[in-house]
Amino acid sequence: MTTAPTPSEPEAVTHPRKIERLVTGMPTSDGAGVKLTRVISGNLQKRLDPYLMLDAFGSDDPDDYIAGFPNHPHRGFETVTYMIAGRMRHNDSHGHEGLLQNGGVQWMTAGRGLVHSELPEQEEGRMEGFQLWLNLPARDKLIEPSYRDIQSRDIPEARLDNGVRVRVVAGRSHGVEGAMQRPVTEPLYLDVHFDTAASFSQRLPATANAFIYVYRGSVSIGGQNVPVKHMAILGNDAQADGVVLESQGPASVLLIAGQPLGEPIAQYGPFVMNTQQELIQAVTDFQAGRF
Ligand code: FE
Repeated sequence: MTTAPTPSEPEAVTHPRKIERLVTGMPTSDGAGVKLTRVISGNLQKRLDPYLMLDAFGSDDPDDYIAGFPNHPHRGFETVTYMIAGRMRHNDSHGHEGLLQNGGVQWMTAGRGLVHSELPEQEEGRMEGFQLWLNLPARDKLIEPSYRDIQSRDIPEARLDNGVRVRVVAGRSHGVEGAMQRPVTEPLYLDVHFDTAASFSQRLPATANAFIYVYRGSVSIGGQNVPVKHMAILGNDAQADGVVLESQGPASVLLIAGQPLGEPIAQYGPFVMNTQQELIQAVTDFQAGRF
């Protein structure tokens, strides 16, 4: 992490959001048998629009991850993969190849479609990270596929006076512009690190849907504790101007927000469109080798 600390601008939050509810997610496996926790899935897609899925994975046991995700298709949305630890090789049907490793992010716009594989490049050691699915607006679902492979050193950081360190993957925090900016859904993706008891404020538009996921330690919001490996959905209060996280000790937390699309969601596995007809078209195009 060689990014020079950027002087931060304080973000005043006078009307913080409250926790609407805590979610632990469901242990499952995907790909060729990768063990993971599905934190966001079908039943929360409407509530957390524009986010469709969040998977958390983390294991020291190669049997839990070694098989990876062999060739599979995607259409109609974006995947954001954040590797906390480990190495994953990505290859796709358009000839793109990338290595995703320690602290790096891959932002993949599947658009009209691609077939790719995501395979571990390690046979031992820890593999830990997150994959988030961000929906595309109806008008952009069939755009050309594209990628950003963002190395750890290229993720801007805000360092606050109280020692809190914020990696700004997308959006903007305390005057620091993130590695990615996306139109329409305006995603905010922060990785907030506390070394000790401290507080962190982030302004959020009242219209945005927002949640946190705690992956080290614990934090509290409005006096309510959010334990490790829990997501807290933040309430949408029209008066609220942001969120305040309080830590009692070391903690690491993802803070994610975005503007809802308010469009119908039709999903069939790795295809996310707006109508059933478009899903049938996606399957037809995939089977015909048009990805
Ligand atoms: Fe994939």
